[in-house]
Amino acid sequence: MKFVFGCDDVGGARGERPLGWFRKLVDWLDAMHIPGTFFWVPKPGGRPADPDGPWMQAIRPAREHGHDFQLHGLTHHCLEFGVPQESIRRHNPRLFEDYEREKEKWDGEHTVPALEKRFAEGIQIYERAFGERPLIFRAPCLGMCANAYAAMSQHGLAFSSSRSVNPDATGYVLTRKPELVPPWHGDYDGMPYEAAPGVTEIPLVEDLAIGGFASEDLNLMLDLFKTELRRYLDGLPEGAFGVFSSHYQAIGKQFDLTTRLYERLFEWLAGQGVSEWTTLRAALR
Ligand SMILES: [Zn+2]
Repeated sequence: MKFVFGCDDVGGARGERPLGWFRKLVDWLDAMHIPGTFFWVPKPGGRPADPDGPWMQAIRPAREHGHDFQLHGLTHHCLEFGVPQESIRRHNPRLFEDYEREKEKWDGEHTVPALEKRFAEGIQIYERAFGERPLIFRAPCLGMCANAYAAMSQHGLAFSSSRSVNPDATGYVLTRKPELVPPWHGDYDGMPYEAAPGVTEIPLVEDLAIGGFASEDLNLMLDLFKTELRRYLDGLPEGAFGVFSSHYQAIGKQFDLTTRLYERLFEWLAGQGVSEWTTLRAALR
Protein backbone atom coordinates (compact mmCIF):
# COMPACT_ATOMS: atom_id res chain seq x y z
CA MET A 1 0.00 0.00 0.00
CA LYS A 2 1.07 3.56 -0.78
CA PHE A 3 1.11 6.34 1.78
CA VAL A 4 1.37 10.13 1.50
CA PHE A 5 3.35 12.27 3.96
CA GLY A 6 1.29 15.47 4.15
CA CYS A 7 2.65 18.57 5.85
CA ASP A 8 0.68 21.78 6.38
CA ASP A 9 1.30 25.53 6.66
CA VAL A 10 4.43 25.93 4.53
CA GLY A 11 4.82 29.56 3.44
CA GLY A 12 2.53 30.72 6.24
CA ALA A 13 5.08 32.34 8.57
CA ARG A 14 7.78 34.92 7.94
CA GLY A 15 11.37 34.97 9.13
CA GLU A 16 14.46 32.77 9.09
CA ARG A 17 13.35 30.33 11.81
CA PRO A 18 10.37 28.80 9.92
CA LEU A 19 12.51 28.57 6.77
CA GLY A 20 15.17 26.69 8.73
CA TRP A 21 12.54 24.25 10.05
CA PHE A 22 11.28 23.64 6.54
CA ARG A 23 14.76 23.03 5.07
CA LYS A 24 15.66 20.65 7.91
CA LEU A 25 12.45 18.69 7.38
CA VAL A 26 13.09 18.41 3.64
CA ASP A 27 16.61 17.10 4.34
CA TRP A 28 15.18 14.49 6.73
CA LEU A 29 12.51 13.43 4.20
CA ASP A 30 15.19 13.12 1.51
CA ALA A 31 17.28 10.92 3.83
CA MET A 32 14.17 8.80 4.52
CA HIS A 33 13.38 8.60 0.77
CA ILE A 34 9.94 10.05 1.46
CA PRO A 35 8.61 12.70 -0.94
CA GLY A 36 6.48 15.21 1.00
CA THR A 37 3.17 16.76 0.01
CA PHE A 38 3.30 20.27 1.48
CA PHE A 39 0.18 22.38 1.83
CA TRP A 40 1.21 25.94 1.02
CA VAL A 41 -0.48 29.17 2.16
CA PRO A 42 -0.85 31.56 -0.82
CA LYS A 43 -1.70 34.80 1.03
CA PRO A 44 -0.35 34.60 4.58
CA GLY A 45 -1.47 37.47 6.79
CA GLY A 46 -3.28 39.03 3.82
CA ARG A 47 -0.12 39.45 1.69
CA PRO A 48 0.17 37.43 -1.54
CA ALA A 49 3.21 35.15 -1.62
CA ASP A 50 6.18 36.68 -3.41
CA PRO A 51 7.17 34.33 -6.30
CA ASP A 52 10.80 35.39 -5.79
CA GLY A 53 10.74 35.64 -1.99
CA PRO A 54 12.74 33.54 0.51
CA TRP A 55 10.00 30.90 0.84
CA MET A 56 9.91 30.23 -2.89
CA GLN A 57 13.71 30.12 -2.96
CA ALA A 58 13.55 27.34 -0.36
CA ILE A 59 10.57 25.61 -2.00
CA ARG A 60 11.86 25.53 -5.58
CA PRO A 61 14.80 23.12 -5.04
CA ALA A 62 12.60 20.88 -2.85
CA ARG A 63 10.00 20.77 -5.62
CA GLU A 64 12.64 19.96 -8.22
CA HIS A 65 13.69 17.15 -5.91
CA GLY A 66 10.22 15.55 -6.10
CA HIS A 67 8.33 17.16 -3.22
CA ASP A 68 4.77 18.24 -3.94
CA PHE A 69 3.16 21.59 -3.04
CA GLN A 70 -0.59 22.08 -2.92
CA LEU A 71 -3.09 24.75 -1.88
CA HIS A 72 -3.78 25.43 1.81
CA GLY A 73 -6.54 28.03 2.16
CA LEU A 74 -6.02 31.65 1.17
CA THR A 75 -4.89 33.73 4.17
CA HIS A 76 -5.08 30.70 6.50
CA HIS A 77 -7.86 32.14 8.68
CA CYS A 78 -9.47 29.05 10.26
CA LEU A 79 -12.99 30.12 9.22
CA GLU A 80 -12.30 31.43 5.72
CA PHE A 81 -13.66 28.33 3.93
CA GLY A 82 -16.20 27.13 6.49
CA VAL A 83 -16.57 25.93 10.07
CA PRO A 84 -14.39 22.95 11.14
CA GLN A 85 -15.99 19.55 11.65
CA GLU A 86 -17.91 19.37 14.91
CA SER A 87 -15.43 17.12 16.72
CA ILE A 88 -12.75 19.84 16.68
CA ARG A 89 -14.94 21.79 19.13
CA ARG A 90 -13.74 19.43 21.89
CA HIS A 91 -10.19 20.78 21.85
CA ASN A 92 -10.71 24.12 20.12
CA PRO A 93 -14.04 25.60 21.29
CA ARG A 94 -12.80 29.16 20.67
CA LEU A 95 -13.03 28.70 16.92
CA PHE A 96 -16.73 27.90 17.20
CA GLU A 97 -17.34 30.78 19.63
CA ASP A 98 -15.69 33.16 17.14
CA TYR A 99 -18.03 31.87 14.44
CA GLU A 100 -21.15 32.15 16.65
CA ARG A 101 -20.22 35.68 17.74
CA GLU A 102 -20.12 36.91 14.14
CA LYS A 103 -22.37 34.33 12.55
CA GLU A 104 -24.00 36.72 10.10
CA LYS A 105 -20.66 37.98 8.83
CA TRP A 106 -19.23 34.47 8.41
CA ASP A 107 -22.39 33.07 6.79
CA GLY A 108 -22.07 35.93 4.28
CA GLU A 109 -18.49 34.85 3.61
CA HIS A 110 -19.50 31.21 3.19
CA THR A 111 -21.80 31.72 0.18
CA VAL A 112 -20.78 29.99 -3.06
CA PRO A 113 -19.95 33.30 -4.86
CA ALA A 114 -17.84 34.57 -1.92
CA LEU A 115 -15.96 31.26 -1.72
CA GLU A 116 -15.51 31.11 -5.49
CA LYS A 117 -13.76 34.49 -5.30
CA ARG A 118 -11.50 33.21 -2.54
CA PHE A 119 -10.60 30.09 -4.53
CA ALA A 120 -9.96 32.21 -7.65
CA GLU A 121 -7.48 34.37 -5.76
CA GLY A 122 -5.71 31.42 -4.14
CA ILE A 123 -5.41 29.57 -7.45
CA GLN A 124 -4.09 32.70 -9.17
CA ILE A 125 -1.37 33.23 -6.55
CA TYR A 126 -0.50 29.52 -6.71
CA GLU A 127 -0.21 29.63 -10.51
CA ARG A 128 2.06 32.67 -10.30
CA ALA A 129 4.33 30.84 -7.85
CA PHE A 130 4.32 27.33 -9.37
CA GLY A 131 3.47 27.82 -13.05
CA GLU A 132 0.60 25.32 -12.94
CA ARG A 133 -2.77 24.80 -11.26
CA PRO A 134 -3.06 23.19 -7.84
CA LEU A 135 -4.62 19.72 -7.83
CA ILE A 136 -5.63 19.42 -4.17
CA PHE A 137 -7.01 21.83 -1.60
CA ARG A 138 -6.81 21.62 2.18
CA ALA A 139 -8.90 24.04 4.26
CA PRO A 140 -7.07 25.75 7.15
CA CYS A 141 -7.93 24.07 10.49
CA LEU A 142 -10.08 21.71 8.35
CA GLY A 143 -12.75 24.47 8.26
CA MET A 144 -14.74 23.33 5.23
CA CYS A 145 -18.40 23.54 4.15
CA ALA A 146 -20.75 22.30 1.42
CA ASN A 147 -20.60 25.67 -0.36
CA ALA A 148 -16.79 25.50 -0.44
CA TYR A 149 -16.97 22.11 -2.18
CA ALA A 150 -19.50 23.61 -4.63
CA ALA A 151 -17.15 26.56 -5.28
CA MET A 152 -14.27 24.11 -5.87
CA SER A 153 -16.45 22.29 -8.37
CA GLN A 154 -17.01 25.57 -10.26
CA HIS A 155 -13.23 26.03 -10.48
CA GLY A 156 -12.57 22.45 -11.59
CA LEU A 157 -10.49 21.85 -8.46
CA ALA A 158 -11.14 18.12 -8.18
CA PHE A 159 -9.65 17.04 -4.83
CA SER A 160 -9.87 18.13 -1.23
CA SER A 161 -8.21 16.63 1.84
CA SER A 162 -9.98 18.59 4.55
CA ARG A 163 -11.69 16.03 6.80
CA SER A 164 -10.02 13.97 9.47
CA VAL A 165 -10.72 10.43 10.57
CA ASN A 166 -9.51 10.69 14.17
CA PRO A 167 -10.53 13.93 15.86
CA ASP A 168 -10.85 12.49 19.37
CA ALA A 169 -7.25 11.30 19.37
CA THR A 170 -5.98 14.84 18.78
CA GLY A 171 -8.43 16.11 21.37
CA TYR A 172 -7.06 13.65 23.91
CA VAL A 173 -3.41 14.50 23.22
CA LEU A 174 -4.09 18.24 23.43
CA THR A 175 -6.41 18.27 26.44
CA ARG A 176 -5.76 14.95 28.24
CA LYS A 177 -9.43 14.99 29.16
CA PRO A 178 -10.23 11.50 30.49
CA GLU A 179 -13.54 11.41 28.57
CA LEU A 180 -11.52 11.53 25.34
CA VAL A 181 -9.41 8.50 26.28
CA PRO A 182 -9.42 6.03 23.38
CA PRO A 183 -11.25 4.07 22.07
CA TRP A 184 -12.64 7.02 20.25
CA HIS A 185 -15.09 7.41 17.43
CA GLY A 186 -14.04 9.25 14.31
CA ASP A 187 -16.41 11.44 12.30
CA TYR A 188 -15.23 9.83 9.05
CA ASP A 189 -13.72 6.53 8.02
CA GLY A 190 -10.84 6.64 5.58
CA MET A 191 -12.94 6.20 2.46
CA PRO A 192 -12.70 8.95 -0.15
CA TYR A 193 -16.15 10.23 -1.11
CA GLU A 194 -17.76 12.64 -3.58
CA ALA A 195 -18.33 15.91 -1.69
CA ALA A 196 -19.78 17.83 -4.66
CA PRO A 197 -20.11 17.02 -8.38
CA GLY A 198 -16.56 16.44 -9.60
CA VAL A 199 -14.96 16.96 -6.18
CA THR A 200 -13.54 14.04 -4.18
CA GLU A 201 -12.78 14.46 -0.50
CA ILE A 202 -9.85 12.31 0.69
CA PRO A 203 -9.91 12.14 4.50
CA LEU A 204 -6.60 12.28 6.37
CA VAL A 205 -5.13 10.96 9.58
CA GLU A 206 -4.98 13.99 11.84
CA ASP A 207 -1.69 15.33 13.23
CA LEU A 208 -1.59 14.08 16.81
CA ALA A 209 1.73 15.89 17.33
CA ILE A 210 0.45 19.33 16.27
CA GLY A 211 0.79 20.75 19.79
CA GLY A 212 4.13 19.06 20.51
CA PHE A 213 4.63 16.44 23.23
CA ALA A 214 6.91 15.67 26.15
CA SER A 215 9.78 13.25 25.55
CA GLU A 216 8.37 10.92 28.26
CA ASP A 217 5.19 10.66 26.15
CA LEU A 218 6.99 9.26 23.09
CA ASN A 219 5.64 5.74 23.65
CA LEU A 220 2.14 7.02 24.40
CA MET A 221 2.17 9.01 21.13
CA LEU A 222 3.44 5.99 19.26
CA ASP A 223 0.66 3.80 20.70
CA LEU A 224 -2.04 6.37 19.90
CA PHE A 225 -0.80 6.76 16.33
CA LYS A 226 -0.60 2.98 15.87
CA THR A 227 -4.14 2.40 17.15
CA GLU A 228 -5.49 5.15 14.94
CA LEU A 229 -3.53 4.13 11.85
CA ARG A 230 -4.49 0.47 12.26
CA ARG A 231 -8.17 1.48 12.27
CA TYR A 232 -7.59 3.75 9.27
CA LEU A 233 -5.76 1.02 7.31
CA ASP A 234 -8.58 -1.43 8.05
CA GLY A 235 -11.12 1.04 6.62
CA LEU A 236 -9.28 1.78 3.37
CA PRO A 237 -10.51 0.03 0.24
CA GLU A 238 -8.25 -2.25 -1.82
CA GLY A 239 -5.81 -0.23 -3.94
CA ALA A 240 -6.35 3.02 -1.99
CA PHE A 241 -3.57 5.10 -0.48
CA GLY A 242 -3.34 6.60 3.00
CA VAL A 243 -2.79 10.27 3.91
CA PHE A 244 -0.65 11.08 6.95
CA SER A 245 -0.63 14.68 8.12
CA SER A 246 1.83 16.88 9.99
CA HIS A 247 2.86 20.50 10.52
CA TYR A 248 6.39 21.63 9.68
CA GLN A 249 6.51 24.12 12.55
CA ALA A 250 5.48 21.48 15.14
CA ILE A 251 8.21 19.18 13.77
CA GLY A 252 10.76 22.00 13.67
CA LYS A 253 10.24 23.00 17.30
CA GLN A 254 11.03 19.45 18.51
CA PHE A 255 12.89 18.10 15.53
CA ASP A 256 14.84 15.22 17.10
CA LEU A 257 11.92 13.98 19.21
CA THR A 258 9.28 14.20 16.46
CA THR A 259 11.44 12.61 13.77
CA ARG A 260 12.33 9.82 16.23
CA LEU A 261 8.58 9.22 16.70
CA TYR A 262 7.99 9.23 12.93
CA GLU A 263 10.93 6.93 12.23
CA ARG A 264 9.58 4.35 14.66
CA LEU A 265 6.04 4.80 13.38
CA PHE A 266 6.97 4.48 9.71
CA GLU A 267 9.00 1.37 10.44
CA TRP A 268 5.87 -0.09 12.05
CA LEU A 269 3.78 1.05 9.05
CA ALA A 270 6.15 -0.81 6.72
CA GLY A 271 5.37 -3.94 8.76
CA GLN A 272 1.65 -3.26 8.23
CA GLY A 273 2.07 -3.34 4.46
CA VAL A 274 2.89 0.30 3.66
CA SER A 275 5.50 -0.37 1.01
CA GLU A 276 5.81 2.97 -0.74
CA TRP A 277 5.65 6.69 0.05
CA THR A 278 4.33 8.93 -2.69
CA THR A 279 2.95 12.45 -3.18
CA LEU A 280 -0.74 13.29 -3.58
CA ARG A 281 -0.09 14.62 -7.08
CA ALA A 282 1.58 11.34 -8.11
CA ALA A 283 -1.03 9.17 -6.36
CA LEU A 284 -3.89 10.96 -8.14
CA ARG A 285 -2.31 10.95 -11.57
ZN1 LIG B 1 -2.90 24.92 8.42
